[in-house]
Amino acid sequence: MIAGFHQVFAKQEYVYYVYVDPIPYYATSYASDAIPNAISTWEHANPQIKFYLTNNTRQANFEIQWIKDYGDVRYTVGEYVIGSPLIQVGLGDSRCMNQWEPYSSSTVTHIAEHEIGHWLGLPHTQNQNNIMYPFSIIQYGAFSQSRAVDTGGWTFFSTCNSEKSITYDYSIDTDNLAVSFNAYFAPSGAEIQASMGQPFSYYTEVGCSAKNVNAFNGVCIVPVNSILLVNPLESHFASSVTVYVDMQEKVSYPKSIIPVLPHGAIPEFSSLAGMIITISIFGVIIISRNKSKFSV
Ligand SMILES: [Zn+2]
Repeated sequence: MIAGFHQVFAKQEYVYYVYVDPIPYYATSYASDAIPNAISTWEHANPQIKFYLTNNTRQANFEIQWIKDYGDVRYTVGEYVIGSPLIQVGLGDSRCMNQWEPYSSSTVTHIAEHEIGHWLGLPHTQNQNNIMYPFSIIQYGAFSQSRAVDTGGWTFFSTCNSEKSITYDYSIDTDNLAVSFNAYFAPSGAEIQASMGQPFSYYTEVGCSAKNVNAFNGVCIVPVNSILLVNPLESHFASSVTVYVDMQEKVSYPKSIIPVLPHGAIPEFSSLAGMIITISIFGVIIISRNKSKFSV
C-alpha cells in the first residue's frame, strides 16, 4: 500500500568566505561592525546564503578593502570591478572644508551592502529605496574643527549641508575656561558684518545661540549655507584662545530594500567581466556633505 509519497528536497546552500582587510586605526570606532552587519543583512534576505569571515585570503571568495578617501576627482564612495574578488569600501572624504571627515557607520555599512550585492551578481537598479541604487546618501560621523582667535574678535566655522536643513548636535569650548564667548548659528555672510562691528542676523531658536558661556552644547536645525560664529569676549586672562567645535548630524539613516537573489548564486557576468561599475557622481556638488548623493 502506498500511504503517501514524500520527497525531501535538499535546499541548496551557498557558503562564501570573506576576508576583511585590517580596519585602519582611525576607523575602528565606526567601521568595525560594517561588514558583519552587511553580510547578515544579505543572509537575512537570502537564507540560502551563508557568509563566514576568514583570516585566510586563499580561502576567501572575496576581499574587502578600505579606502580612506577617493578624492575629489571621481566622487566615488565604493567600487567593484565585475568578476573580481575585490570590494572597495570608502571610509570618509574631504569634500567639505578640505579636511578629511569620517562617514557614519550607517554610511559605511550601506556602501558595503551595495558592493557585496554587486559581488553577488546584482546590477544597479533605478529604485532609490533599493540597496542597488547607484547613488548613496552620505552621512558623516562626528567632525571637529578648531581655530585660534583673538579675544574680542570673531571667527566662524562652516557647515556643509548643501541640499536641505540639517539638525546638528554640537559643542563648543576653548583652551581657556577663564574666557567666555558668544556663539551664533547665522546665515553665511554674517561674519562680515560681525567682524566690522555691525549688527547681523542669526537664528534665534533655542540651541542655536549662546551668550557669555565658557562651554556650550546645543542642538540646532541649520539651514543651507549657515555658519557658526564664535566671539570670545575680551579678557584680562588671555589675548587669544583656541576655539574647538564638534558637530554631529542628528538623523537616522534610511533603510534600503535588500533584494532576494534571482538564482541564489552568482549569476554569470561574463560579458561584463572587468568592467568597473559606475563611478560617476549623481550631481556635481563641490561644497556638499550631508544628504548629497555619491555613486557606489
Ligand atoms: Zn554600484
